[in-house]
Amino acid sequence: LAYYFEQIEKHQHLNAFNEVFFDSANTQAKAIQQKLTQGTAGRLAGMVIGIKDNICYQDHQVTASSKMLDGFVAPYSATVVERLLAEDAIIIGRLNCDEFAMGGSNETSYFGTVKNAADEERVAGGSSGGSAVAVQADMCLAALGTDTGGSVRQPAAFCGNIGFKPTYGRISRYGVIAYASSFDQVGTLTSSVSDAALLLEILAGADENDSTVSTLPVPPYSQNLSATGKKKIAVLKETLDSDALDPETKTAILSAIEKFKAEGHEVTEVSFDLLEYLVPTYYILTTAEASSNLSRYDGVHYGYRNTQAQSLNQLYKSSRALGFGEEVKRRIMLGAFVLSAGYYDAYYQKAQKVRRLIREKIEALLQNHDVLVSPVAPTPAFKIGENVQDPLVMYMADIYTVLASLAGIPAIALPLGNNSQGLPLSIQLMTKHFNEQTLLSLSHSFL
Ligand code: GLN
Repeated sequence: LAYYFEQIEKHQHLNAFNEVFFDSANTQAKAIQQKLTQGTAGRLAGMVIGIKDNICYQDHQVTASSKMLDGFVAPYSATVVERLLAEDAIIIGRLNCDEFAMGGSNETSYFGTVKNAADEERVAGGSSGGSAVAVQADMCLAALGTDTGGSVRQPAAFCGNIGFKPTYGRISRYGVIAYASSFDQVGTLTSSVSDAALLLEILAGADENDSTVSTLPVPPYSQNLSATGKKKIAVLKETLDSDALDPETKTAILSAIEKFKAEGHEVTEVSFDLLEYLVPTYYILTTAEASSNLSRYDGVHYGYRNTQAQSLNQLYKSSRALGFGEEVKRRIMLGAFVLSAGYYDAYYQKAQKVRRLIREKIEALLQNHDVLVSPVAPTPAFKIGENVQDPLVMYMADIYTVLASLAGIPAIALPLGNNSQGLPLSIQLMTKHFNEQTLLSLSHSFL
Protein backbone atom coordinates (compact mmCIF):
# COMPACT_ATOMS: atom_id res chain seq x y z
CA LEU A 1 0.00 0.00 0.00
CA ALA A 2 2.84 2.37 0.85
CA TYR A 3 4.29 1.67 -2.60
CA TYR A 4 1.05 2.68 -4.33
CA PHE A 5 0.73 5.81 -2.18
CA GLU A 6 4.23 6.75 -3.35
CA GLN A 7 3.35 6.08 -6.96
CA ILE A 8 0.27 8.29 -6.63
CA GLU A 9 2.36 11.07 -5.14
CA LYS A 10 4.90 10.74 -7.93
CA HIS A 11 2.26 10.87 -10.66
CA GLN A 12 0.00 13.49 -9.13
CA HIS A 13 0.33 15.72 -12.20
CA LEU A 14 -1.45 13.10 -14.33
CA ASN A 15 -4.65 13.93 -12.40
CA ALA A 16 -5.90 10.34 -12.29
CA PHE A 17 -7.29 10.47 -8.74
CA ASN A 18 -10.12 12.70 -7.58
CA GLU A 19 -9.39 11.55 -4.04
CA VAL A 20 -7.04 9.10 -2.33
CA PHE A 21 -8.68 7.24 0.57
CA PHE A 22 -5.59 7.29 2.82
CA ASP A 23 -7.44 6.63 6.07
CA SER A 24 -9.85 3.91 5.06
CA ALA A 25 -7.21 2.15 2.93
CA ASN A 26 -4.76 2.12 5.83
CA THR A 27 -7.42 0.85 8.20
CA GLN A 28 -8.31 -1.88 5.74
CA ALA A 29 -4.68 -2.86 5.25
CA LYS A 30 -4.21 -3.32 9.00
CA ALA A 31 -7.33 -5.44 9.34
CA ILE A 32 -6.33 -7.58 6.36
CA GLN A 33 -2.85 -8.11 7.74
CA GLN A 34 -4.42 -9.58 10.83
CA LYS A 35 -6.73 -11.80 8.81
CA LEU A 36 -3.73 -13.04 6.82
CA THR A 37 -1.98 -14.19 9.97
CA GLN A 38 -5.18 -15.90 11.09
CA GLY A 39 -5.66 -17.51 7.67
CA THR A 40 -9.10 -15.92 7.21
CA ALA A 41 -8.30 -13.45 4.44
CA GLY A 42 -10.46 -13.24 1.31
CA ARG A 43 -9.59 -14.06 -2.28
CA LEU A 44 -8.50 -10.51 -3.10
CA ALA A 45 -6.53 -10.02 0.10
CA GLY A 46 -4.38 -6.96 -0.29
CA MET A 47 -5.23 -6.32 -3.94
CA VAL A 48 -5.13 -2.54 -4.26
CA ILE A 49 -7.97 -1.26 -6.40
CA GLY A 50 -9.08 2.18 -7.53
CA ILE A 51 -12.72 2.86 -8.33
CA LYS A 52 -14.13 5.22 -10.90
CA ASP A 53 -15.70 8.23 -9.23
CA ASN A 54 -19.23 7.23 -10.22
CA ILE A 55 -19.31 4.16 -7.97
CA CYS A 56 -20.63 4.61 -4.43
CA TYR A 57 -18.50 3.67 -1.43
CA GLN A 58 -20.31 4.27 1.82
CA ASP A 59 -19.19 7.35 3.79
CA HIS A 60 -16.87 8.43 0.98
CA GLN A 61 -17.46 11.22 -1.49
CA VAL A 62 -18.69 10.34 -4.97
CA THR A 63 -19.01 13.07 -7.62
CA ALA A 64 -19.17 11.54 -11.12
CA SER A 65 -16.59 14.28 -11.77
CA SER A 66 -19.41 16.83 -11.75
CA LYS A 67 -19.83 20.08 -9.87
CA MET A 68 -23.40 18.86 -9.40
CA LEU A 69 -22.24 16.22 -6.93
CA ASP A 70 -19.18 17.96 -5.51
CA GLY A 71 -19.13 17.18 -1.80
CA PHE A 72 -21.81 14.49 -1.98
CA VAL A 73 -21.14 11.58 0.38
CA ALA A 74 -22.42 8.12 -0.56
CA PRO A 75 -24.93 6.86 2.02
CA TYR A 76 -24.35 3.24 0.97
CA SER A 77 -21.91 1.15 -1.08
CA ALA A 78 -22.44 -0.19 -4.57
CA THR A 79 -22.78 -3.96 -4.77
CA VAL A 80 -19.45 -4.12 -6.62
CA VAL A 81 -17.76 -2.30 -3.74
CA GLU A 82 -19.40 -4.58 -1.17
CA ARG A 83 -18.09 -7.59 -3.10
CA LEU A 84 -14.56 -6.21 -3.33
CA LEU A 85 -14.53 -5.44 0.38
CA ALA A 86 -15.93 -8.85 1.28
CA GLU A 87 -12.90 -10.43 -0.42
CA ASP A 88 -10.48 -8.03 1.28
CA ALA A 89 -9.46 -5.89 -1.67
CA ILE A 90 -8.13 -2.49 -0.57
CA ILE A 91 -9.95 0.46 -2.13
CA ILE A 92 -7.32 3.14 -2.55
CA GLY A 93 -9.31 6.01 -3.98
CA ARG A 94 -11.76 7.37 -6.52
CA LEU A 95 -10.66 8.00 -10.05
CA ASN A 96 -11.25 10.90 -12.39
CA CYS A 97 -13.62 10.43 -15.32
CA ASP A 98 -15.68 12.38 -17.79
CA GLU A 99 -18.61 14.19 -16.16
CA PHE A 100 -21.33 11.60 -15.52
CA ALA A 101 -19.27 9.26 -17.75
CA MET A 102 -20.20 11.30 -20.81
CA GLY A 103 -17.18 11.60 -23.02
CA GLY A 104 -14.32 9.76 -24.59
CA SER A 105 -11.30 11.78 -23.50
CA ASN A 106 -11.77 12.70 -19.84
CA GLU A 107 -11.86 16.33 -20.93
CA THR A 108 -15.43 16.89 -19.68
CA SER A 109 -14.46 16.27 -16.02
CA TYR A 110 -15.16 19.14 -13.63
CA PHE A 111 -11.82 18.22 -12.03
CA GLY A 112 -9.80 18.58 -15.20
CA THR A 113 -8.28 16.40 -17.88
CA VAL A 114 -6.32 13.25 -17.10
CA LYS A 115 -2.96 12.97 -18.85
CA ASN A 116 -1.79 9.85 -20.62
CA ALA A 117 1.40 8.54 -19.01
CA ALA A 118 2.72 7.43 -22.43
CA ASP A 119 2.64 11.04 -23.66
CA GLU A 120 1.46 13.71 -21.28
CA GLU A 121 0.22 15.94 -24.08
CA ARG A 122 -2.31 13.30 -24.98
CA VAL A 123 -5.64 12.26 -23.51
CA ALA A 124 -6.08 9.18 -21.37
CA GLY A 125 -9.28 8.33 -23.20
CA GLY A 126 -12.60 8.20 -21.46
CA SER A 127 -14.78 8.19 -19.78
CA SER A 128 -12.81 5.99 -17.33
CA GLY A 129 -9.57 7.88 -18.05
CA GLY A 130 -8.43 8.05 -14.43
CA SER A 131 -8.93 4.30 -14.08
CA ALA A 132 -6.79 3.60 -17.16
CA VAL A 133 -3.94 5.92 -16.15
CA ALA A 134 -3.95 4.67 -12.55
CA VAL A 135 -3.27 1.16 -13.83
CA GLN A 136 -0.90 2.37 -16.57
CA ALA A 137 1.30 4.29 -14.10
CA ASP A 138 1.05 1.57 -11.44
CA MET A 139 -0.87 3.71 -8.96
CA CYS A 140 -3.05 0.71 -8.17
CA LEU A 141 -3.08 -2.92 -9.28
CA ALA A 142 -6.47 -2.78 -10.96
CA ALA A 143 -9.34 -0.36 -11.36
CA LEU A 144 -13.07 -0.45 -11.82
CA GLY A 145 -14.62 1.59 -14.56
CA THR A 146 -18.02 1.75 -16.17
CA ASP A 147 -18.67 1.16 -19.84
CA THR A 148 -21.80 2.50 -21.51
CA GLY A 149 -20.40 2.81 -25.01
CA GLY A 150 -16.70 2.05 -24.62
CA SER A 151 -15.65 3.88 -21.48
CA VAL A 152 -13.62 0.98 -20.13
CA ARG A 153 -12.29 -0.37 -23.43
CA GLN A 154 -11.22 2.86 -25.14
CA PRO A 155 -9.21 4.37 -22.25
CA ALA A 156 -7.62 0.95 -21.66
CA ALA A 157 -6.66 0.93 -25.35
CA PHE A 158 -5.20 4.45 -25.12
CA CYS A 159 -3.15 3.53 -22.05
CA GLY A 160 -2.00 0.03 -22.99
CA ASN A 161 -3.94 -1.95 -20.42
CA ILE A 162 -6.71 -4.55 -20.62
CA GLY A 163 -10.24 -3.18 -20.61
CA PHE A 164 -13.03 -5.64 -20.12
CA LYS A 165 -16.77 -5.00 -20.38
CA PRO A 166 -18.87 -8.04 -19.48
CA THR A 167 -22.35 -8.82 -20.83
CA TYR A 168 -25.02 -6.29 -19.94
CA GLY A 169 -26.57 -7.69 -16.76
CA ARG A 170 -23.60 -9.78 -15.67
CA ILE A 171 -22.60 -7.32 -12.90
CA SER A 172 -24.90 -5.35 -10.63
CA ARG A 173 -25.34 -1.63 -11.29
CA TYR A 174 -26.68 -0.98 -7.79
CA GLY A 175 -24.86 2.05 -6.40
CA VAL A 176 -23.37 3.02 -9.75
CA ILE A 177 -24.38 6.50 -10.86
CA ALA A 178 -26.57 6.01 -13.91
CA TYR A 179 -25.80 7.40 -17.35
CA ALA A 180 -27.84 5.23 -19.76
CA SER A 181 -29.35 2.38 -17.81
CA SER A 182 -29.93 -0.07 -20.65
CA PHE A 183 -26.24 0.19 -21.61
CA ASP A 184 -24.31 0.83 -18.37
CA GLN A 185 -22.06 -1.96 -17.20
CA VAL A 186 -19.21 -2.11 -14.71
CA GLY A 187 -15.91 -3.27 -16.20
CA THR A 188 -12.30 -3.73 -15.18
CA LEU A 189 -8.97 -2.19 -16.16
CA THR A 190 -6.06 -4.48 -15.39
CA SER A 191 -2.62 -5.33 -16.64
CA SER A 192 -3.27 -9.06 -16.81
CA VAL A 193 -6.14 -11.18 -18.10
CA SER A 194 -6.04 -13.33 -14.99
CA ASP A 195 -6.77 -10.29 -12.81
CA ALA A 196 -9.72 -9.44 -15.05
CA ALA A 197 -11.00 -13.02 -14.74
CA LEU A 198 -10.62 -13.10 -10.96
CA LEU A 199 -12.37 -9.75 -10.54
CA LEU A 200 -15.26 -10.81 -12.77
CA GLU A 201 -15.66 -13.97 -10.73
CA ILE A 202 -16.12 -11.87 -7.63
CA LEU A 203 -18.15 -9.01 -9.07
CA ALA A 204 -20.60 -10.97 -11.26
CA GLY A 205 -23.83 -12.61 -10.25
CA ALA A 206 -27.37 -12.01 -9.03
CA ASP A 207 -28.15 -9.11 -6.74
CA GLU A 208 -31.46 -8.50 -5.01
CA ASN A 209 -30.89 -4.77 -5.43
CA ASP A 210 -30.68 -4.86 -9.23
CA SER A 211 -33.31 -6.88 -11.03
CA THR A 212 -31.53 -6.53 -14.39
CA VAL A 213 -28.64 -8.70 -13.20
CA SER A 214 -28.70 -12.22 -14.57
CA THR A 215 -29.20 -15.12 -12.18
CA LEU A 216 -27.01 -17.37 -14.33
CA PRO A 217 -24.35 -19.09 -12.23
CA VAL A 218 -20.91 -17.43 -12.21
CA PRO A 219 -18.21 -19.80 -13.49
CA PRO A 220 -14.74 -19.84 -11.89
CA TYR A 221 -13.34 -17.86 -14.84
CA SER A 222 -9.84 -17.51 -13.43
CA GLN A 223 -9.42 -21.27 -13.08
CA ASN A 224 -10.36 -22.08 -16.66
CA LEU A 225 -8.07 -19.70 -18.48
CA SER A 226 -5.81 -22.29 -20.06
CA ALA A 227 -8.58 -24.30 -21.76
CA THR A 228 -9.12 -22.42 -25.02
CA GLY A 229 -9.39 -24.93 -27.84
CA LYS A 230 -9.56 -23.78 -31.45
CA LYS A 231 -11.96 -20.91 -32.01
CA LYS A 232 -13.83 -19.58 -35.00
CA ILE A 233 -12.84 -15.96 -35.25
CA ALA A 234 -14.60 -13.50 -37.56
CA VAL A 235 -13.07 -10.18 -38.51
CA LEU A 236 -15.68 -7.47 -39.09
CA LYS A 237 -14.54 -6.42 -42.54
CA GLU A 238 -16.02 -2.92 -42.70
CA THR A 239 -14.36 -1.91 -39.44
CA LEU A 240 -10.91 -2.44 -40.96
CA ASP A 241 -11.73 -1.00 -44.38
CA SER A 242 -12.73 2.39 -43.05
CA ASP A 243 -10.64 5.39 -44.19
CA ALA A 244 -10.88 6.77 -40.68
CA LEU A 245 -8.76 3.92 -39.31
CA ASP A 246 -5.19 4.86 -38.44
CA PRO A 247 -2.79 2.82 -40.65
CA GLU A 248 -0.51 1.69 -37.82
CA THR A 249 -3.53 0.48 -35.85
CA LYS A 250 -4.67 -1.47 -38.88
CA THR A 251 -1.25 -3.06 -39.40
CA ALA A 252 -1.09 -4.09 -35.75
CA ILE A 253 -4.55 -5.68 -35.96
CA LEU A 254 -3.64 -7.52 -39.15
CA SER A 255 -0.57 -9.02 -37.52
CA ALA A 256 -2.65 -10.00 -34.48
CA ILE A 257 -4.98 -11.79 -36.90
CA GLU A 258 -1.97 -13.64 -38.36
CA LYS A 259 -1.00 -14.67 -34.86
CA PHE A 260 -4.48 -16.09 -34.22
CA LYS A 261 -4.16 -18.08 -37.45
CA ALA A 262 -0.72 -19.31 -36.48
CA GLU A 263 -2.15 -20.50 -33.17
CA GLY A 264 -4.55 -22.69 -35.13
CA HIS A 265 -7.74 -20.65 -34.88
CA GLU A 266 -9.98 -20.44 -37.90
CA VAL A 267 -10.15 -16.82 -39.01
CA THR A 268 -12.62 -15.53 -41.61
CA GLU A 269 -13.82 -12.14 -42.75
CA VAL A 270 -17.48 -11.33 -42.34
CA SER A 271 -19.49 -8.34 -43.41
CA PHE A 272 -21.29 -6.09 -40.95
CA ASP A 273 -23.17 -3.58 -43.03
CA LEU A 274 -24.86 -1.60 -40.27
CA LEU A 275 -21.72 0.29 -39.26
CA GLU A 276 -23.00 3.73 -40.21
CA TYR A 277 -26.06 3.32 -37.96
CA LEU A 278 -24.14 2.52 -34.79
CA VAL A 279 -23.19 6.00 -33.62
CA PRO A 280 -26.55 7.68 -34.39
CA THR A 281 -28.49 4.85 -32.73
CA TYR A 282 -26.24 4.88 -29.69
CA TYR A 283 -26.43 8.65 -29.21
CA ILE A 284 -30.21 8.84 -29.65
CA LEU A 285 -30.83 6.12 -27.10
CA THR A 286 -28.19 7.09 -24.55
CA THR A 287 -29.04 10.79 -24.55
CA ALA A 288 -32.71 9.88 -24.10
CA GLU A 289 -31.89 7.68 -21.13
CA ALA A 290 -29.45 10.25 -19.76
CA SER A 291 -31.96 13.09 -19.88
CA SER A 292 -34.31 10.96 -17.83
CA ASN A 293 -31.65 9.71 -15.37
CA LEU A 294 -30.27 13.19 -14.79
CA SER A 295 -33.65 14.72 -13.99
CA ARG A 296 -33.07 13.73 -10.36
CA TYR A 297 -30.36 16.42 -9.99
CA ASP A 298 -32.71 19.26 -9.19
CA GLY A 299 -30.73 21.19 -6.61
CA VAL A 300 -32.93 19.75 -3.86
CA HIS A 301 -32.20 16.05 -3.53
CA TYR A 302 -28.46 15.87 -4.09
CA GLY A 303 -25.28 17.85 -4.22
CA TYR A 304 -25.04 21.33 -5.65
CA ARG A 305 -27.73 23.94 -4.92
CA ASN A 306 -27.77 27.55 -6.02
CA THR A 307 -28.57 29.26 -2.75
CA GLN A 308 -29.18 32.60 -4.48
CA ALA A 309 -32.35 31.36 -6.18
CA GLN A 310 -35.51 33.34 -5.37
CA SER A 311 -38.17 30.76 -6.21
CA LEU A 312 -38.51 27.01 -6.50
CA ASN A 313 -38.49 27.08 -10.28
CA GLN A 314 -35.48 29.30 -10.31
CA LEU A 315 -33.78 26.97 -7.85
CA TYR A 316 -34.24 24.00 -10.18
CA LYS A 317 -33.20 25.91 -13.26
CA SER A 318 -30.21 27.74 -11.88
CA SER A 319 -28.87 24.77 -9.92
CA ARG A 320 -28.92 22.70 -13.10
CA ALA A 321 -27.55 25.54 -15.22
CA LEU A 322 -24.63 26.05 -12.86
CA GLY A 323 -24.12 22.45 -11.71
CA PHE A 324 -23.86 20.66 -15.05
CA GLY A 325 -21.07 21.11 -17.57
CA GLU A 326 -21.49 21.81 -21.26
CA GLU A 327 -21.35 18.24 -22.57
CA VAL A 328 -23.87 17.00 -20.02
CA LYS A 329 -26.25 19.83 -20.91
CA ARG A 330 -25.85 19.06 -24.61
CA ARG A 331 -26.88 15.49 -23.96
CA ILE A 332 -29.83 16.41 -21.75
CA MET A 333 -31.09 18.68 -24.52
CA LEU A 334 -30.57 16.06 -27.23
CA GLY A 335 -32.29 13.45 -25.09
CA ALA A 336 -35.23 15.68 -24.22
CA PHE A 337 -35.58 16.46 -27.93
CA VAL A 338 -35.66 12.86 -29.14
CA LEU A 339 -38.17 11.99 -26.43
CA SER A 340 -40.47 14.93 -27.02
CA ALA A 341 -43.97 14.49 -28.41
CA GLY A 342 -43.86 14.71 -32.19
CA TYR A 343 -40.28 13.44 -32.42
CA TYR A 344 -40.51 10.33 -30.26
CA ASP A 345 -41.58 8.06 -33.14
CA ALA A 346 -39.12 9.53 -35.60
CA TYR A 347 -36.07 9.27 -33.36
CA TYR A 348 -36.37 7.35 -30.11
CA GLN A 349 -38.67 4.62 -31.28
CA LYS A 350 -36.87 4.23 -34.58
CA ALA A 351 -33.52 3.99 -32.80
CA GLN A 352 -34.92 1.24 -30.59
CA LYS A 353 -35.91 -0.69 -33.70
CA VAL A 354 -32.47 -0.20 -35.22
CA ARG A 355 -30.92 -1.37 -31.97
CA ARG A 356 -32.89 -4.58 -32.27
CA LEU A 357 -31.71 -5.07 -35.86
CA ILE A 358 -28.10 -4.53 -34.82
CA ARG A 359 -28.47 -6.99 -32.01
CA GLU A 360 -30.08 -9.61 -34.26
CA LYS A 361 -27.38 -9.21 -36.87
CA ILE A 362 -24.65 -9.65 -34.28
CA GLU A 363 -26.39 -12.64 -32.74
CA ALA A 364 -26.64 -14.22 -36.20
CA LEU A 365 -22.90 -13.72 -36.76
CA LEU A 366 -22.19 -15.22 -33.36
CA GLN A 367 -24.21 -18.32 -34.21
CA ASN A 368 -21.46 -19.33 -36.61
CA HIS A 369 -18.46 -17.73 -34.94
CA ASP A 370 -17.09 -17.72 -31.42
CA VAL A 371 -15.42 -14.34 -31.48
CA LEU A 372 -15.71 -11.12 -33.47
CA VAL A 373 -12.72 -8.86 -34.05
CA SER A 374 -12.58 -5.10 -34.66
CA PRO A 375 -10.45 -2.13 -33.65
CA VAL A 376 -11.23 -0.44 -30.31
CA ALA A 377 -10.80 3.09 -31.58
CA PRO A 378 -9.97 4.61 -34.99
CA THR A 379 -6.75 6.19 -33.68
CA PRO A 380 -4.39 5.92 -30.72
CA ALA A 381 -4.65 8.58 -27.98
CA PHE A 382 -5.13 12.01 -29.53
CA LYS A 383 -3.77 15.33 -28.28
CA ILE A 384 -5.47 17.07 -25.36
CA GLY A 385 -7.74 19.75 -26.81
CA GLU A 386 -7.58 18.36 -30.34
CA ASN A 387 -11.24 17.30 -30.53
CA VAL A 388 -12.96 19.32 -27.82
CA GLN A 389 -14.45 21.87 -30.19
CA ASP A 390 -16.20 19.25 -32.27
CA PRO A 391 -18.56 16.88 -30.45
CA LEU A 392 -19.37 15.04 -33.68
CA VAL A 393 -15.73 14.06 -34.21
CA MET A 394 -15.68 12.88 -30.61
CA TYR A 395 -18.90 10.86 -31.03
CA MET A 396 -17.75 9.27 -34.28
CA ALA A 397 -14.64 7.94 -32.53
CA ASP A 398 -16.95 5.64 -30.52
CA ILE A 399 -17.96 3.74 -33.63
CA TYR A 400 -16.22 0.45 -32.81
CA THR A 401 -17.03 0.25 -29.12
CA VAL A 402 -20.75 1.10 -29.19
CA LEU A 403 -21.47 -2.05 -31.20
CA ALA A 404 -21.02 -4.36 -28.20
CA SER A 405 -22.93 -1.88 -26.03
CA LEU A 406 -25.92 -1.76 -28.37
CA ALA A 407 -25.94 -5.55 -28.59
CA GLY A 408 -25.24 -6.03 -24.87
CA ILE A 409 -22.44 -8.52 -25.56
CA PRO A 410 -19.12 -8.84 -23.69
CA ALA A 411 -16.06 -7.21 -25.22
CA ILE A 412 -12.41 -6.82 -24.34
CA ALA A 413 -9.69 -4.41 -25.43
CA LEU A 414 -6.23 -5.98 -25.58
CA PRO A 415 -2.90 -4.16 -25.93
CA LEU A 416 -0.85 -4.71 -29.11
CA GLY A 417 2.33 -2.89 -28.17
CA ASN A 418 3.19 0.67 -29.13
CA ASN A 419 3.24 2.56 -32.41
CA SER A 420 6.22 4.47 -33.81
CA GLN A 421 5.44 7.39 -31.47
CA GLY A 422 5.33 5.16 -28.41
CA LEU A 423 1.53 5.25 -28.15
CA PRO A 424 -0.34 2.06 -27.21
CA LEU A 425 -2.20 0.16 -29.94
CA SER A 426 -5.05 -2.26 -29.37
CA ILE A 427 -7.54 -4.79 -30.69
CA GLN A 428 -11.10 -5.59 -29.61
CA LEU A 429 -12.61 -9.06 -29.21
CA MET A 430 -16.34 -9.67 -28.70
CA THR A 431 -18.41 -12.76 -28.06
CA LYS A 432 -21.90 -14.09 -27.28
CA HIS A 433 -23.93 -12.98 -24.29
CA PHE A 434 -22.61 -14.53 -21.05
CA ASN A 435 -19.72 -16.21 -22.83
CA GLU A 436 -17.07 -14.23 -20.96
CA GLN A 437 -14.99 -17.35 -20.46
CA THR A 438 -14.26 -17.64 -24.19
CA LEU A 439 -13.09 -14.06 -24.36
CA LEU A 440 -10.92 -14.32 -21.26
CA SER A 441 -9.34 -17.65 -22.19
CA LEU A 442 -8.60 -16.60 -25.75
CA SER A 443 -7.13 -13.30 -24.55
CA HIS A 444 -5.04 -15.11 -21.98
CA SER A 445 -3.49 -17.43 -24.56
CA PHE A 446 -3.05 -14.58 -27.04
CA LEU A 447 -1.12 -12.15 -24.83
N1 GLN B 1 -17.70 7.96 -25.30
C1 GLN B 1 -18.99 7.38 -25.11
C2 GLN B 1 -19.97 8.44 -24.71
O1 GLN B 1 -19.56 9.52 -24.55
C3 GLN B 1 -18.94 6.28 -24.10
C4 GLN B 1 -19.08 6.73 -22.71
C5 GLN B 1 -19.22 5.59 -21.72
O2 GLN B 1 -19.09 4.42 -22.07
N2 GLN B 1 -19.59 5.94 -20.50
O3 GLN B 1 -21.12 8.19 -24.54
